[in-house]
Amino acid sequence: MAATAVTASGSGVRAERWRNALILVVTRRCDLRCAYCPTVKDGEPDLGADDARRAIALFVERYGGGDAKLFGGEPLLVPEVVKAAVDAAPSEVNVYLSTNGTHLDEHWIAWLHAHPSVTLTLSLDGVARDHDGLRRGSPSHDRVVALLPRLLGLPRFVVTQTIAPSTAARAADNFAYLRSLGVRRFNLLPGYYLPWRPEQLEALNQSFSAIAAAFERAWAAGERLYLRNLFVRAPVAFYNTGFVVDSDRRIYANNLILAGNLDHLRERFALGTLDAPPAAEALVAAGQEAGGFLHDTLGEHVMQSTAAADAALTRLCNRLYPAYFARRERLAEA
Ligand code: SF4
Repeated sequence: MAATAVTASGSGVRAERWRNALILVVTRRCDLRCAYCPTVKDGEPDLGADDARRAIALFVERYGGGDAKLFGGEPLLVPEVVKAAVDAAPSEVNVYLSTNGTHLDEHWIAWLHAHPSVTLTLSLDGVARDHDGLRRGSPSHDRVVALLPRLLGLPRFVVTQTIAPSTAARAADNFAYLRSLGVRRFNLLPGYYLPWRPEQLEALNQSFSAIAAAFERAWAAGERLYLRNLFVRAPVAFYNTGFVVDSDRRIYANNLILAGNLDHLRERFALGTLDAPPAAEALVAAGQEAGGFLHDTLGEHVMQSTAAADAALTRLCNRLYPAYFARRERLAEA
């Protein structure tokens, strides 16, 4: 699963927690080619197990620790690197492992049960027509859905539902479909840095409104339903800011650099390497500036589209906070 964030970046968003993040791009390789994926995948090295251990140690000792996110490409293509990172992470570091599900098997499920602190984030966008349609000739829906009963039994399991411009009108139906399969923990991710048309943005807004209503009804009825977006925010829409270690061992303040249309900026924005890492202050400062160069590179239309999609996600979160906090208070009183 690509290193996509699940953020609402609007300044009005209240986040319950805001933790440092390590984004460990263990490999850029992937056997899928999702229509919305910007990550450059071919001709790149993988991280090694020692690199993963080094990154975790740096994250804790130099950058203060927090959440460690194992991204790709598809991380399960380098199992020894994933396992080295998890084994090296101290208990106070929350580890999130993203996957497209194509390499999940009984071995991995048993391993996840044996590592209950790891949160597995699975990419599943909805019904087969939409999920596989976005994967351009590499269908994975049936395989992933067949594994769901086992995955739903994992201690920590979240589904990322990516919403592309072409599927925005069906996003609420796809959300309902995923709930019908038993999914209760969601990330919602509008396709980012893509040219959304006005009618597609309108469809996204309507779908988010329907999804918000579904959350409100579920919470009012006492149902357990979780939306990770409520607890995550970032200064640059839809990307992860923090201690980013790319698969070639270079260090950045933001994983924007994975995107093919920003590839030429790697040299300019690299802050160091695992052998020569930047000071914590330099990393924080660069993270705050990360979005500044996007406009010139991506153009007005894409930036406006992204801002509008991000605003839709932020509105969804802001609508849900009152119901979320009311439900939390009811649970505390019970
Ligand atoms: S699963 Fe899709 S989104 Fe993730 S890295 Fe592969 S092509 Fe990109």
